[in-house]
Amino acid sequence: MYRLNETHDPALRSWVASANQADCDFPIQNLPLAVLRRRGSNEPLRGGVAIGDQVLDLAAAVQAGVFQGQAKAAAQAASADSLNALMALGAASWSALRLALSRALREGAVARTALEGCLLAQADAEYALPARIGDYTDFYIGIHHATAVGKLFRPDNPLLPNYKWVPIGYHGRASSVVVSGTPIRRPLGQTKGSAETPDFGASQRMDYELELGFLIGGAANALGEPVAMADAEARLFGVALFNDWSARDIQPWEYQPLGPFLSKNFGSTLSPWVVTMEALAPFRAAFTRPAGDPQPLPYLDSPANRERGALDVQLEVWLQTEKMRAAGQPAVQLTRANAREAAYWTPAQLVVHHAVGGCNLQPGDLLGSGTLSGPGPNQSGSLLELTQGGKQPIQLPGGEQRSFLADGDTLSLRGWCEREGARRIGFGECAGTVIAARAII
Ligand code: CA
Repeated sequence: MYRLNETHDPALRSWVASANQADCDFPIQNLPLAVLRRRGSNEPLRGGVAIGDQVLDLAAAVQAGVFQGQAKAAAQAASADSLNALMALGAASWSALRLALSRALREGAVARTALEGCLLAQADAEYALPARIGDYTDFYIGIHHATAVGKLFRPDNPLLPNYKWVPIGYHGRASSVVVSGTPIRRPLGQTKGSAETPDFGASQRMDYELELGFLIGGAANALGEPVAMADAEARLFGVALFNDWSARDIQPWEYQPLGPFLSKNFGSTLSPWVVTMEALAPFRAAFTRPAGDPQPLPYLDSPANRERGALDVQLEVWLQTEKMRAAGQPAVQLTRANAREAAYWTPAQLVVHHAVGGCNLQPGDLLGSGTLSGPGPNQSGSLLELTQGGKQPIQLPGGEQRSFLADGDTLSLRGWCEREGARRIGFGECAGTVIAARAII
């Protein structure tokens, strides 16, 4: 697990002035990575680092000659059209790149002259997914979400008996994971009401899921070889915001006995910026269990994980309908939650459990946390919970109401970390707009 070092010093300032604003998501203490190019161009996609409202083009920075040794090799790996090669290099290389970037971008750096021409305004960039995602696995670590959803079906016994012992998950679909800004088409599928035969048509209960996405890095464990708790943190490259869109009316009919299928595979939105685990070092928190809950089995337990395995991330969900957009009304906040309060398991435990049967985890794999709802009424990470399964629609400014998402709705997730003695860092935005279903053929 990363220790605090000079890159986390809250007093550091950048020669990129916008990075020094107090509410900026991307101060010099953050340095998240993305894959991008100039908007509307056919330039090659390549890796970049956010600093203030700018992006440092890593390929251009390598050309400018500001990196040496391990940092240079890491920057070269990050200059490709995905971050997979950088992710594969491992923690020592990621750290070397972060230190070199921090030193080159801070006030007074001699590299300033060489790097000024390597900046691109974020507003002028278009983004691709940060990684070629080989496999996507969706977990279910939000215990308040699991309890609230369970209550809709089993009021007396909302959590199934395995929940507090096994990090519950299923294998998702990687091909339909898209980068923030990509429209999400309402899915078609079968639903079953009270009639004898199922209906076929557009989902009427489209929902979002507020999640964090954990991107895997480091040398892949060979097929058949588990990952120990002591090695798990080194297999985590970084964290992005993740909206795992869901069709709540398709799921109940299709999900038994093998689990969710079309209700979950029509689109999942990942934010472009990946905040590295090292950037998150000041925002780790103790992993604890409520009194009376079982302690994790030994293979999911370690002193380091107990001490600071959890992630303290503030999360928000915002909604702007098409009507609100047309009227110039700003988005409205639906949810505010905290990942540490919401999560029953830590990222390291997910890595270890995923691999314990011998599954090989590879650089660029994506683990979704599952919906991160807090315990309170305005902390729900899905409309399913906020509207009590659609029974209590939420009222929006302008007179509209929503039980589930309508066409034209733009949903955006935001996240940030703050703690006394550390510089606030943010995750940027993870947004998508729902578009109408295809006509039924
Ligand atoms: Ca999910």
